[in-house]
Amino acid sequence: MTQQPRIAIIGAGPGGLTLARTLHLAGMAVTVFEREAHALARPQGGTLDLHVESGQLALTRAGLGEAFLRIARYEDQGSRLYDKHGTLLFADDDVTGIDRPEVDRTALRTILLESLPAQLVRWNHELREMRLGEDGTSELVFAQGTAGPFDLVVGADGAWSRIRPLVSPYLPQYSGITFIEFGIDEVDHRHPAIAALVGRGKIGVEADGKGLIVQRNGNGHLRGYAVFRVPVAWAEQNFDVASPVAARARLLAEFDGWAPEILALIHASNEQMAVRSIHALPVGHQWVHRRGVTLLGDAAHLMSPFGGEGVNAAMLDGSELARQLVACANWDEAVRRYEAEMFVRVVAPARDAAEAVATELSHVGPALTLQHLMEHARQHAA
Ligand SMILES: Cc1cc2nc3c(=O)[nH]c(=O)nc-3n(C[C@H](O)[C@H](O)[C@H](O)COP(=O)(O)OP(=O)(O)OC[C@H]3O[C@@H](n4cnc5c(N)ncnc54)[C@H](O)[C@@H]3O)c2cc1C
Repeated sequence: MTQQPRIAIIGAGPGGLTLARTLHLAGMAVTVFEREAHALARPQGGTLDLHVESGQLALTRAGLGEAFLRIARYEDQGSRLYDKHGTLLFADDDVTGIDRPEVDRTALRTILLESLPAQLVRWNHELREMRLGEDGTSELVFAQGTAGPFDLVVGADGAWSRIRPLVSPYLPQYSGITFIEFGIDEVDHRHPAIAALVGRGKIGVEADGKGLIVQRNGNGHLRGYAVFRVPVAWAEQNFDVASPVAARARLLAEFDGWAPEILALIHASNEQMAVRSIHALPVGHQWVHRRGVTLLGDAAHLMSPFGGEGVNAAMLDGSELARQLVACANWDEAVRRYEAEMFVRVVAPARDAAEAVATELSHVGPALTLQHLMEHARQHAA
C-alpha cells in the first residue's frame, strides 16, 4: 500500500490548515473543504497563546516559524485579577521569559492560508454528508454536488463535527458556563483608562458568582467575556445579541453594583456581541479505528477554553497526523498510530480544562482563581 491516499480535510480551522500545510510541504496532495465563503467571512475570534511544545512546534514543523514570529505578541502575556470594587488582587505584568505569546486568530489563519496554493481550500463548501463505503473510500456531499472518491477524510470541523458520528456516538455536553462575548475598539486611543486597567494581557474580575474576562488583541482591540453559571437556554432567553443596546443594558443590570471602572468595560463595548455556551466532550473520548476516516482538534476532543489548550492540541494533532502519514508507507497504519498517540496525549489537557471549568465561578469567589494565578506565577519564577 505505497500509493498516496486521496485525502480530504473538512474544516479550514487551525487544526485542518496545519495538517494541510504540513502535508503540502511534504509533497502530499490534499483538498480542504470549508463552509465559510472566504477567509474573512466571519471574525475568527480573539487572541490565543501558542505553546512551545504544541502550537509553536506545529508551526515550526510546517516551515512557518518566521511567519509566526511576525504575528506573535510576546508583550501581551500579562495577567491581572480584580475584585468587583476594582481592587487589584494580583498582577503579573513582567512577561520577560514567558514563552506563550499571543496571536490573533485571523493572523494565524492568514499565515497558514498564505502558505498554501489558493485552490487547495474550497471555500463555500459546507459538508452535508459523508458516504463511507464498505471498502473505506468515501464520497462527500455538498450543496453544490458531490466530491470524491477519497481514501481518507479528516474531520477537522470543530465542536459540532459532521464527521464525528461516523466513529463516535458522543455529543459535546454543556459545562454549565456561558459567555456573552463583547469587543472594545481602539482602546488605547479612545479609552485610555480601560487600557490602563487591562494592561498588556488579560484581566479577570470575579464576584457574586459571575465574572468578566477581558483580553488584549492586536491593533488596540479588546475582547471581553461576561461569564455566568446558568442553564444552557438562559442566554438565548435573556440576551438579544442582535440588539446590542438592549444586550448591553442587560449586561449592566447583571453587574449592578460593580465599580464604575469595571462597568466601563461594558459601556465601551461595540455592536458585536455573541453568546458562547461552553461545551466539552468527555475526558478520554476515543473511538474504534475505522478505515477511511479520522478526527482532529475540537472534533476529536472539544474541551473548555479555560485550560488554553484547545488550539494548541488541534495544531499538534494536524502536525502529528501529517508526520505519521509522511513517515509510514501504509497510510491506514499511520492513521491508527496517530489516533493511538493522540488519545493518550490529550487526556491531561482535557482533564485540566474540565477541572478548570468545573471550578470557575466557585463559591469562594476570586480566591480560587487567585490561588491558580499565584501557582502559575510561582512555576514561572522557578
Ligand atoms: C470563547 C472561546 C475562547 C477560546 N479561547 C481559547 C484560547 O484562549 N486558547 C485556546 O487554545 N483555545 C481556545 N478556544 C478553543 C479553540 O478555539 C479551539 O480549540 C480551536 O479553534 C480548535 O481548532 P479546530 O481547527 O479543531 O476547529 P475550529 O477552529 O472550530 O475550526 C473548524 C472549521 O471547520 C469549519 N466547519 C465546521 N463545520 C463544517 C462543515 N460541515 N463543512 C465544512 N466546514 C465546516 C468551520 O467553519 C471552521 O472553519 C476557545 C474557544 C472558545 C469558544
